[in-house]
Amino acid sequence: MKVQTIMAELERKHPGENEYLQAVQEVLESIEEVYNLHPEFEKAKIIERMVEPDRIFTFRVTWVDDRGEIQTNLGYRIQFNSAIGPYKGGIRFHKAVNPSMLKFLGFEQTFKNALTTLPMGGAKGGSDFDPVGKSDAEIMRFCQAFMWELWNNIGPDTDVPAGDVGVGGREIGYMYGMYKKLAREYNTGVLTGKGMTWGGSLIRPEATGFGALYFVEHMLAKAGKSIQGATVAISGFGNVAWGAATKATELGAKVIAISGPDGVVYNPEGMNQQKLDYMLVLRASNQNVVAPFAEKFPDATFIPGKKAWSIKCDIALPCAFQNELNGDDAAELLANGTWCAAEVSNMGCTPEAIAAFQSAGILFAPGKAVNAGGVATSGLEMTQNAMHISWSAAEVDQKLHYIMESIHAACVKYGTQEDGYINYVKGANIAGFMKVAQAMLEQGIV
Ligand code: GLU
Repeated sequence: MKVQTIMAELERKHPGENEYLQAVQEVLESIEEVYNLHPEFEKAKIIERMVEPDRIFTFRVTWVDDRGEIQTNLGYRIQFNSAIGPYKGGIRFHKAVNPSMLKFLGFEQTFKNALTTLPMGGAKGGSDFDPVGKSDAEIMRFCQAFMWELWNNIGPDTDVPAGDVGVGGREIGYMYGMYKKLAREYNTGVLTGKGMTWGGSLIRPEATGFGALYFVEHMLAKAGKSIQGATVAISGFGNVAWGAATKATELGAKVIAISGPDGVVYNPEGMNQQKLDYMLVLRASNQNVVAPFAEKFPDATFIPGKKAWSIKCDIALPCAFQNELNGDDAAELLANGTWCAAEVSNMGCTPEAIAAFQSAGILFAPGKAVNAGGVATSGLEMTQNAMHISWSAAEVDQKLHYIMESIHAACVKYGTQEDGYINYVKGANIAGFMKVAQAMLEQGIV
């Protein structure tokens, strides 16, 4: 395989799909060496097949807003790869959603899901519907209209959507209600991230953030460091940021920054329960601003227009959106002494930022390893649904711990360089790739 040749061909076929091309390029560069040691992969054209989704559904979603006006959005579901299990991955509602964004997310999901140790293929879906400023009734009508189109293409053993940016427990509830009405079957396991009274798993809401901190703990332990007393800057204030802030605080770190599109909140005293609870209130308000946090808690200061990376910290945790930490941000963090960065958002760092962290020799780990605890716990939700039982929070948390430890071990196995530096990007990509490639090979040319 020649990365340049494959990339040139992809750019020709999918011009301007920048996020998708970026995600593919990163994986291909990581696996090139290992891939070329396996002529059977080359013969079966594994890479050429793996970089294209199995299929894409695109549909119109029409709904009526509170003023009685008719609105039309675009909806998508991208079933990327089903070599190791049914399609699995979240749904994103955000005004910038387009096929490139969902293809990058579906591609990443395929490798991430392979890392979880559970049998799940990769998928992603979403809409350019913008939840900001929408009423609860509008969100409900949109979710219902979205599911009206989607329901026939998903199922507990076919494709299992979940939440992502702009989609949480409320949206999953509305989508599930409509699914059930249309399918005339309960099919509990058709969506994950459900409410606790109707098939949801304990710890699922916390899982992405908690899992990320378990991963960071392992990464730090391997490097002989501790999270105790470390300062942590987090971007975002949604579900993932909340879970990460909660666990980081519990482990003895000080979360000194959270941020939103409007700016950063500098929080020098760290979090407490009241502040963590208020993050949930902010997210549920649908306003997408973080400034009210500093109005409510006078020990915190709001700095408009600034990113979380402008705050001096030991550990940087991007928890919001792709490419939210660029080369300049990385340079600022490094100049301020940051010694660990872990992507909790999908592809949170640009390639320039990753290169800066790695050449500075600091700890860096990619989203597909760090944030895999979310989808892994979705996998545990599916298992409980299939068995018609529910596990205790302690049981789920213990399984999540084990999974994050396994992912960390896989990264170390495939990513340790001759000089001893652990390239977690390479490790995660190779580990995920080997599993999916082997499955594709054994299943023939399909
Ligand atoms: N959206 C999350 C992710 O990026 C969770 C997906 C899921 O639970 O299926 O992994």
